[in-house]
Order: sequence, then structure tokens, then C-alpha cells
Amino acid sequence: MVDFKLTSEQEALRRLARDFAVNEIRKVARHHDETGEYPYATLKKAWELGLMNTHIPESCGGLGLGTFDGVLIAEENGWGCTGISTAMEANTLAQVPVIVAGTEAQKKKYLGRMTEECLFCAYGVTEPDAGSDVAAIRTRAERRGDKYVINGEKMWITNGDKANWYFVLAKTDPTAGHKGMTAFIVERDLPGVSVSQKLWNMGQRASDTRGITFTDVEVPVENRLGEEGEGFKIAMKAFDKTRPLVAGAAVGLARAAFEYAADYAKERKSFGQPLYNHQAIAFMLADMAKDIEAARLLVWLSGWTIDQGIRNTKQAAMAKCFAADVAHRVASDAVQIFGGNGFNCEYPVEKLLRDSKIFQIYEGTSQIQRVIIAKEIFSR
Ligand SMILES: Cc1cc2nc3c(=O)[nH]c(=O)nc-3n(C[C@H](O)[C@H](O)[C@H](O)COP(=O)(O)OP(=O)(O)OC[C@H]3O[C@@H](n4cnc5c(N)ncnc54)[C@H](O)[C@@H]3O)c2cc1C
Repeated sequence: MVDFKLTSEQEALRRLARDFAVNEIRKVARHHDETGEYPYATLKKAWELGLMNTHIPESCGGLGLGTFDGVLIAEENGWGCTGISTAMEANTLAQVPVIVAGTEAQKKKYLGRMTEECLFCAYGVTEPDAGSDVAAIRTRAERRGDKYVINGEKMWITNGDKANWYFVLAKTDPTAGHKGMTAFIVERDLPGVSVSQKLWNMGQRASDTRGITFTDVEVPVENRLGEEGEGFKIAMKAFDKTRPLVAGAAVGLARAAFEYAADYAKERKSFGQPLYNHQAIAFMLADMAKDIEAARLLVWLSGWTIDQGIRNTKQAAMAKCFAADVAHRVASDAVQIFGGNGFNCEYPVEKLLRDSKIFQIYEGTSQIQRVIIAKEIFSR
């Protein structure tokens, strides 16, 4: 049986997230876009309301919510501002590998304290010379007694400066390709960890991205996640739970762009008519609405599938790829409908266009999502 009706708990969760987006996120979004200042006060409020870290299991003091629940929150937060929602979701990206592969002691220590205090963590995989090709990373972890010594450089790490700990992928056997990679939890304040200046990006400027360098960082063996050689699998598996969330935020951005464009098309007149009376504009809006609905369906499917315990790698890649393309296209069309005003920073849609681009790049580019979808089709 197919049922799109949300439970009363899910309706309440969505309402909570929507109110938060309206009353808190939207009000500060422009300020953080203009200044690049980290939205700590807003994130703290979200944390207090239980809108962050929702995946953390109940056994660690968390809410233990599913990916579908997370998707509902992500769309609303993304509607508010995807710079702020990305800062929120970066925690989830680092936490999921610990949920998936961590020991009870690791979960209690690193996830448990995030339920007691508004803390941050970050996912450190990408390097200056290795993004899509994760197997090409060079960060090295060498075992020395009961420690690993980590050396290397990570790039584009969201929450890089705010995190208390990082999920880090490193090579323990550089001759073994992706089977030579191991995952670690690395505490931020260990000697040898250094964080670069904030990278000034095209969009999502509320989010903090940095380079991180590890110089002879000594990490205790108990901070290894899983066994040696399992790191790649752990790092990739996290995406099945996080890509639906990223895709949900992209749907939220698209919905915001559509609403601005529809309102403007009602108010603005040309040739004696509101813009929406011109069929070219009406069809553009119809396509935007249609694509947003389709993207949401894929997002919901990908979140629901993994919550049923069913492998969702294909659906998660489809949702992320489709929703990212929809967000970027809808934001671009919104700018078009606003005409010259759309290009101006006093109006809201140029920010949405800038913010939308990264959805086609982070958590696996749109090309890589297609590689994954094709692999799922032909190798399974
Ligand atoms: C704002 C921001 C935040 C980020 N946050 C994080 C984070 O928190 N943690 C983290 O680890 N990383 C993060 N990243 C990194 C991000 O995941 C990578 O940028 C992304 O995976 C692409 O890698 P790359 O930039 O090295 O591009 P490349 O891998 O060099 O790719 C360049 C181009 O070639 C294409 N390409 C590459 N290989 C193929 C192929 N086989 N087939 C077809 N096309 C291909 C790509 O699609 C892309 O268009 C972030 C990046 C940004 C910009």
C-alpha cells in the first residue's frame, strides 16, 4: 500500500521546523550571507529545539529519528537558508559513520556529548588533489604501538573551524587502493591539527568551509572506526543516509525560489498584464512546481527506503542528483522572472541562485551521482 500521509508526530516535526525557518532562519539569512559570520546563535536555538543531530540513537541520549524525519526538517531549513541548513547538516554527515561503524564506547563519547551541549563535528574526506576520486587521497595514518600518526591535508571541510572532532579518512596501506583506507575520529584540539582561514565561497556563506592540516597527529587506536581497510566503505555508506537530507534541503531552496517568483509574477505587470498572464512565464512557473513535486517524491522515497532497512544507494543518488539540478534550474528561472531585479542583491533570488550551485558539487557531484546510478543499474 502506498501512503503519503505523515504521522501526527511527523506533521508536528515539520511544523516545528517550518516555524523555526520562518521565525529564526529567514530573519538572519541575509546577514550571514553578507558577512559570512557563523550562525552560532541560530544553530544553538535549533539544537535546543531538537532540530539538529536527530539521527543520534536514543541509547546515546539522542532522538533516534529516521532519515525520512530528517528529510522533513531539511526541506524546511533549506527553505529558510541553505547556508544555515548546511551548517546544521554537516554534523549529521560526520555523525553517521560513527552511528554506522562506531563501538558503543565511541558512540557514547562522541555522539552522547553532542546531546548534552551544542557542539559540532565535521566530515574530512576531500583533499586538495582528491575529491570525486576518493581513492586518490594521500593523508596517511601509520600505526605506532597503541597510536596512529596522521599526516595530510583535507580541503573544503564544512564546520572545519567549529568542529570538536573530525571524521577523517586516511590511508593505512597506500598500495591497496580503496581497501587501504581507514576511518578515524580525530579530536580538534590534538597537537598537530591546524585549520585554515574560512574559504570565501560563491554561496552558502553562512556555512564554514576550511582546509585542515594534520602534522604528526597522534590518535589513539580506540579512535579507529571499524577495522583497518574498512574506511572507504564506512565513508561511502554514510551518504545513503545523508544524500536524502542534502536533497531535501535542495527541494526547500527550490520551493523558496518558486514562491518568490510566483508572488512577483502576480505583482509585476508588463504589457498591461501581471507577468503570470504571459504564457511563457506561466509555463516556467508550472515547470518549476512540477519539478519540485517530482524532486520531493524522490527525496521521500530515498529517505523512506533506508528507514525500511532496504539498500537505497540508487535512490539516494537519484534524489540528490535530481533535486540539485531542480534547485539550480528553479533558482535560475526565478532570477529570470524577476528580470533586472533578479540580478540585484536587494532582491532575494540572486542569493538562491548562488546558494543552489553547490548542491551539484558537494556530497558527490552530479556527474558522480550519475556514475553511481549507472553502476547500480548495470552491476546489480
Ligand atoms: C562548499 C563546499 C563544502 C564541502 N564540504 C565538504 C565536507 O564537509 N567534507 C568533505 O570531505 N568534502 C567537502 N566538500 C568537497 C566536495 O565533496 C568536493 O568538492 C566534490 O566531491 C568534488 O570534488 P573536487 O572538488 O575535487 O572536484 P573533482 O573531483 O576534481 O571534479 C572536477 C569535475 O570533474 C568531474 N568528474 C570527476 N571525475 C569524474 C568522473 N569519473 N566522471 C565524470 N565526471 C567526473 C566532476 O563532476 C567535476 O565536475 C565540499 C566542497 C565545497 C565546495
